[in-house]
Amino acid sequence: MRKKKCYIISNRLPFSYDKKLNKLIAGSGGLVTALSGVDINYDFIWAGSVSDSETKSKIEKLNVLNNKDKFKYLPINIPDTLYSSYYNSFCNDVLWPLLHYQSELVKFSSFHWESYLKVNIIFAEKLSKVLQKGDIIWIHDFHFFMLPELLRMEKQNIKIGFFLHIPFPSSEIFKQLPVREQILNSLLKSDLIGFHDIAYLRHFTTSTSSILGIPSELLSIEYNGHIANLGVFPVSIDTHAFKIKSQLKTTNKYHMKYTEAKTGMKVILGIDRLDYIKGLPLKLKMFRTFLRKNPQYVEKLQLIQVAVPTRQEVQDYIKLKEEVDLLIGQINGEFSTAIYTPIKYIYKSLNIHELLALYQSSDMLYVSSKRDGMNLVCLEYLAAQNPSNPGVVILSEFAGASSTLSHALKVNPWDYKDISESIICALEMSMSEKINRHSTMLKFLESYTASDWASSFLTALEKNTIEVQHKKVINLNTAAEKRKLLRSISGKDITLILDYDGTLVPIAKKPELAVIDNKSNKLIKKISKKYGIDLIILSGRDSKFLTEQFRDIDKVSLASEHGSKFLHHSSKRWKNLTNSKSHIWYKQALVIFETFTKRTPGSFIEKKENSIAWHYRLAPNEFGVFQSRKLLMELEEGLSNSPVTVGEGKKIVEVKANEANKGNFINWYKSTNYYLENSIVIAIGDDLTDEDMFSMISNNGVSIKIGKEFTHANYRLDYQSDLIEFLNTNLLSIT
Ligand code: UDP
Repeated sequence: MRKKKCYIISNRLPFSYDKKLNKLIAGSGGLVTALSGVDINYDFIWAGSVSDSETKSKIEKLNVLNNKDKFKYLPINIPDTLYSSYYNSFCNDVLWPLLHYQSELVKFSSFHWESYLKVNIIFAEKLSKVLQKGDIIWIHDFHFFMLPELLRMEKQNIKIGFFLHIPFPSSEIFKQLPVREQILNSLLKSDLIGFHDIAYLRHFTTSTSSILGIPSELLSIEYNGHIANLGVFPVSIDTHAFKIKSQLKTTNKYHMKYTEAKTGMKVILGIDRLDYIKGLPLKLKMFRTFLRKNPQYVEKLQLIQVAVPTRQEVQDYIKLKEEVDLLIGQINGEFSTAIYTPIKYIYKSLNIHELLALYQSSDMLYVSSKRDGMNLVCLEYLAAQNPSNPGVVILSEFAGASSTLSHALKVNPWDYKDISESIICALEMSMSEKINRHSTMLKFLESYTASDWASSFLTALEKNTIEVQHKKVINLNTAAEKRKLLRSISGKDITLILDYDGTLVPIAKKPELAVIDNKSNKLIKKISKKYGIDLIILSGRDSKFLTEQFRDIDKVSLASEHGSKFLHHSSKRWKNLTNSKSHIWYKQALVIFETFTKRTPGSFIEKKENSIAWHYRLAPNEFGVFQSRKLLMELEEGLSNSPVTVGEGKKIVEVKANEANKGNFINWYKSTNYYLENSIVIAIGDDLTDEDMFSMISNNGVSIKIGKEFTHANYRLDYQSDLIEFLNTNLLSIT
C-alpha cells in the first residue's frame, strides 16, 4: 500500500548549494529538527524554492542517492528577478513589517503582489502534479498565504495545514493591506491554521469577522461550505540537544574564558538579529537610563549585545544599524572608565559554542522585542543554563514566548520603570527563586520539544470539528420571584441537594484551598437540623475530601465523585454506585490528559476513583480555555465507545464513569428508602456537571443555577454569595 505522503512547504529548502565546493550543504534549522523527531509514519517530501537549475538538478540527484532518507526534496525553480520581487519586495517589505505592526515601513505595490501571486501559482502547479488523494500538505509561513486556495482549486481531497511563524496582527493593522480579502479567503481554504499564540489566533478571527463578516469563533471558521480549524501550537526547541551541546568541551572553554572576562561584573545578555522588530534601540536607551538613575551599577553591570547582521543592503536596516551604532557609541562614551565598558557590542553571527557559552556566563537575558512571533533565543537560554546556578530571563510581553514561559520576568519594553525593576529583581533574586523559576520552565521545555510541536500540529491536522444552543430562566435576585417560589414550597418536605465548589464555597485557585468556612459550616449545621429538610452535598470531589469538610455535622449525607459514591448520614460506610471497579477507559483518558498537561503550563490532573479531572485555572487564561476546548474534542473522540461522560466544570475538563452523573444520582436516590416520600427536590449548583441534575429534575422540582451562563435550571441566582443569603434568610424562614 502507498504510504501516506506529507508535503512540507517552505520558502527555501533546508540546504544550500555551494558552487565552489560543488556540494549541497545541509541546513540544521528548527524545522528540520522538529520534523526529524516526528513519530508519525509519513513519507516526507519537502518543497521549497531554489534559484537556479544547477542546484535543482543536484537536489534531484540527492533524492535518488538518499533513497532511504526520511525526507525527499522537491526543488522548485524560481527565476532570480521574480524571486527578488516576491521575497524581498513583497514578503519582506510588505508582509514582514505589517504583520509586526510596523505599518509605516510597508511598501506595497501591485507589481510585487503579482510576483507574490505568481510564485504561489508556480508552487501550486508543481504540487498539483504530484499530490494524490489523502495526502497532507503543511505550508509554512507568510510566503505562501495564497497557496491553500490555489491548491484547493486543483485538489479537494487533500488535507491542507498552514502554520504562521510570525505574529498575526490586530485586525486594525491587517485591514491596511490592500489584498486583505484575498489572503483571508485563501487561508480559510486550509483544514487547519496554526499560530504560536492564542492572541494571534484571536486577531485572525477578528480580522475574518471584520473583513469577511464571518461570525467570530475560536475553534473553527466555516466559510463558503468549508471548515477551517484553528489551533495554537507554540514552537519549541530541541531541548535535549541544547543541553548536550552546552556541556561540550569546546563550549566549556568559551564559558571559562567569558566568565574570567567578567571580572566580577554582572552581565545582561542580548542576542538578536539586527531587525527593527527586536527593539534594540529601545533596549539601549533603557540601559542608558538605568545607568543614569543607578550610578552605583557603573563598573558593576555590563550589557553584552550580539546583533546578527540581516538584510544589510536594505535601507530600513542600514538606518537601524546607524542608530544602534550611534547609541552604543554615546552610551559607552558617557559611562566608560579606564576599567569599564558598559556595552560590549558584537555585530556578527556566533557559532553555537560561543553562543551557548554566552548564555551560560551571563546573569540574565534581556529580550526587548517590540513584536516577535515566538523568540527562540530565550528558550535556548533556559536549556543552556546550569540548573544549580541559572540566569534569569527578562522577556518582552510582545514576544510569543511570553505565553509559554510562565516564570520569566515579563516586561513592557517601552516601560522604563518596569524594566529597571526587573533588572534589579534579577540582580537581587535569591538562588532558590532562580532555581525554582528555571526548573519550572525547563521542565516544560523538556516535556514539550520541537518534535512535540510538529507532532501536535500534524496530529491535529489529521482530525476535525464543533457545535452550540437557549431557555427562559427565572431570576431569583428579585424579591417578587423569591416570594413566589417560597410560597410554592412552603409547608412541604424538602430534599435539598447542594453542589460544593462554586455553590456552597467560592471557587478557589487550587482545589485544596476551597475549604468550608465557619459561616457556611454554621449554615449547613442549621439546615441539617431543620425538621423536614433532607440535606445532601453532591459534589465532584472525592469521598475523603467531603468527609473531612463535613465531619462535625451529623445530619448531612454526602455524594462524592458526581454521585458515584454515597454516604448516608445514618451510615458509616461509603457505598460505591458504579458497576465496574477497574475502568479500562481510565488509562486511555489519562494518556490524553497527560499530553495536554505537558503542553499547557500551570495545568494539572486530579485523579479520582471513577473520574479524572484536568484543572487549568492556573494556566495562561485564554490559552487554558482554548486547550480545554481541544481536550474536550479529543476526549470525546478518543473515548466515544467507552462507558464515560466527557464534560467540563469551572476551569476543569473531566471524564467520569457514566454512573458518575448527578442526574442519575438523583434518580437513584429517589428510588431508595432514604428519600422523604413526596418531598420537593431542590437542587442547586453552578457548573456544567450540575446541568445533569437540572435536566433530570426538569419541572418535577426546583433547580437553581448559580451564575449567568446558559442553564437547564428553572431558576437562577447571579452569585455564590446570593445563595448563602437565600439559604439563610429565605429557605430557613419558611420551614
Ligand atoms: N543565533 C545564531 N547565531 C547567533 C545568534 C543567534 O545562530 O550569533 C540563532 C539562535 O540560536 C536562534 C536564532 O538565531 O536559534 C534566533 O531565533 P529567534 O526566534 O530568537 O529570532 P529570529 O532571528 O528567528 O527572529
